[in-house]
Amino acid sequence: MTLSFDPNSLSLPIGHLVGDRLIAAEGAIPMRRPSDGKAYADCPIADADLVDHAVQTAKTALKTSNWGGVHPRERLNVLHRWADIIEQEASALAKLEALSSTRPVGQLVEGDIAISAEQIRFFAEFADKEGSDLVPTDDGNLGMIMTEPYGVVGAITPWNFPISMAAWKLGPALAAGNAVVLKPSEMTPFSTVYLAELALRAGMPAGLINVVLGDGPVTGTAITGHPDIAKVSFTGSTQAGSAIMENIARTGVKPMTLELGGKSPQLVFADADLDQAAATITAGITSNAGQACVAGSRLIVEESAAAALVEAIVTRMKTVVPRPTWDATAQFSPIISEKQRQRIHSIVSAAISAGAECLAGGAHMDAPGYFYAPTLIAGIDQNSPSLTEEIFGPVLTLQTFRDEDEALSLADHPTYGLAAGLFTRDLSRAIRLTRRLQAGTIWVNRYGRSRDHILPTGGYKQSGIGKDLGREAFHANRKSKSVLIRL
Ligand code: NAD
Repeated sequence: MTLSFDPNSLSLPIGHLVGDRLIAAEGAIPMRRPSDGKAYADCPIADADLVDHAVQTAKTALKTSNWGGVHPRERLNVLHRWADIIEQEASALAKLEALSSTRPVGQLVEGDIAISAEQIRFFAEFADKEGSDLVPTDDGNLGMIMTEPYGVVGAITPWNFPISMAAWKLGPALAAGNAVVLKPSEMTPFSTVYLAELALRAGMPAGLINVVLGDGPVTGTAITGHPDIAKVSFTGSTQAGSAIMENIARTGVKPMTLELGGKSPQLVFADADLDQAAATITAGITSNAGQACVAGSRLIVEESAAAALVEAIVTRMKTVVPRPTWDATAQFSPIISEKQRQRIHSIVSAAISAGAECLAGGAHMDAPGYFYAPTLIAGIDQNSPSLTEEIFGPVLTLQTFRDEDEALSLADHPTYGLAAGLFTRDLSRAIRLTRRLQAGTIWVNRYGRSRDHILPTGGYKQSGIGKDLGREAFHANRKSKSVLIRL
């Protein structure tokens, strides 16, 4: 069975999922398909009243289901059933995702969706295995660190991997005993609504997952500032993360996890396997057309290896083919919107006008939709926005170094510290540099996440606060109480 589909044939769950029903709503934000630019729907905007209704529904659901107080295996079982149904419905979910996002349908079923189901099961397993601790005290006392869920978690997700990002938020929050009010991106909301409907089908008590659609300024602000939202979990740009911090500071202090932007370096030493490095680095900037927080967007290579590496990367970059996300053979993604494509092009053009050399790409691709050619630019001024700003497109910059210190100094970004890649056959150097690189994730002789969900992900500097995935994500969804009992 082919996964290819007709994009005009899908019926979309347009509305807010609150409790057990989809609340139909008037669309307000026009949506266009990235693969061909066609208008296809309007995203509704939940106002503060509707957000409040979702929060109150979540509170009531926590009370009536006693979700945080049932035997933890019950939470585990429901989450496992949900993961099973996600796998059974992978093809329907994939179509909704591929229609509005930049994710090719062929990469979704075995990739994003299968991995999301796996991650939900991964978090489910913490429910009955991680809990409170007895701590050492003198024998006249009993000391405990008792943990409990926060209550209602407010989650906000970006458009670049909508299903995966929803799973990263919902899995740990629900396993830890919370309810969630989640706002997906206004550009890609429908797969998240469907994901939540599948949880109801799996027997999850209604009201534990509520999905409200809308933009950042209205719906997002209403969520993060709501007095009954006990914790905020956000993934998106550093700019929106700052606005959220500000809103939280103004409306009432509460804990938050922020997974923000990146501008990650790829350091290549001349002793590396250059063919393998070229393949990995090309994939690291062309996957989802560079629209990944961890996109390896700054190539920093030892001078003596630069020519050979550049040639191998440019050759690979030229092989990508633009195909719509609903074509099962599509591998390379379009850019999410025309506005974003223009922004990418203006940053690249400004660098070139200022004297940079374009070694590949640098232009729109000849295809319907918002495709941008994989691009490599060199000879860039240190202060060029192409080096300092997160471009969020398939654009790789090239810089060269002579020694480790210079490599590290180029790798160090003033704002971001999300991930870094390092290519060398010298184990001592790999460890030495891993210790000194300022990033939340370091990949050595590889680049990109694996299925080791136990490894947390999160940023240094302004790339974020706190972690998704790993044990940390589960614990971030429980608060702790210190108890000392005199015996
Ligand atoms: P964005 O910040 O524009 O939007 C993200 C979400 O936040 C959307 O749902 C949006 O509606 C909402 N939002 C915007 N302003 C808000 C506000 N003031 N209050 C509340 N909500 C608000 O980001 P995007 O363009 O959707 O996604 C791309 C960004 O996400 C990139 O910067 C990327 O690096 C980052 N990202 C980070 C990670 C990570 O794990 N660190 C993962 C994926 C994406």
